[in-house]
Amino acid sequence: MQDLESKTEKEVLSWAYSNFGDSISIAFSGQMEDVVVLDLASKIRKNPRLFTLDTGRLPKETYELMDAVRDRYNVSIDVYFPDKQKLENMVKEHGFNLFYNSKDLRKMCCGVRKVEPLQRALAGLSGWITGLRRDQWDSRAQIKKVEIDESHGNITKVNPIADWSYENILEYTKSNNLPYNKLYEKGYKSIGCEPCTRPVLEGMHPRSGRWWWEEGDKECGLHVKE
Ligand code: SF4
Repeated sequence: MQDLESKTEKEVLSWAYSNFGDSISIAFSGQMEDVVVLDLASKIRKNPRLFTLDTGRLPKETYELMDAVRDRYNVSIDVYFPDKQKLENMVKEHGFNLFYNSKDLRKMCCGVRKVEPLQRALAGLSGWITGLRRDQWDSRAQIKKVEIDESHGNITKVNPIADWSYENILEYTKSNNLPYNKLYEKGYKSIGCEPCTRPVLEGMHPRSGRWWWEEGDKECGLHVKE
């Protein structure tokens, strides 16, 4: 794997598109980082591919953002929903808001609504592009700008803004007048499913609003290394 750590985000994306073309896709979950990555990518490749995982529990502001992004960048979004049978079985057995009852059940819900659909989204791709940043959480501190994703068939995972700070994201969003999720105006700093995300107070860790009732890691299983 080529070492691209010293390269800029634009150089990393140029490398990704020249190597993978349309067989690489941007993961879009409604975070400010995702729009930044899409904006950077759209300056390098016309109509870059992107996909989203619609868990069925997303806030309406995230859907509004996705439609705003479709219009602004003239892109279509590949949408992956949970497997119908797995979802029906889970809710029948454990209830609608099972995630509040235990960490195991929360992970089960993330597994059905996110992890399994991600596997389908990545099947057939040579790589994916994320808006992950190293300072988002300890579990992300070691990510590289380009790495092999062993959890998904050794395809390439590209994290072009791995070395950006939250302030860099805000500044880029503002100066380029990018669309953003309106929940940021209500104190949210990291946005996931509606029942599992809440705003954070000034000075608190931006990701502390995710699964706030739990101790420990703040991952749903999408970005965990084997
Ligand atoms: S974030 Fe919450 S609602 Fe969304 S998949 Fe995970 S547990 Fe389920």
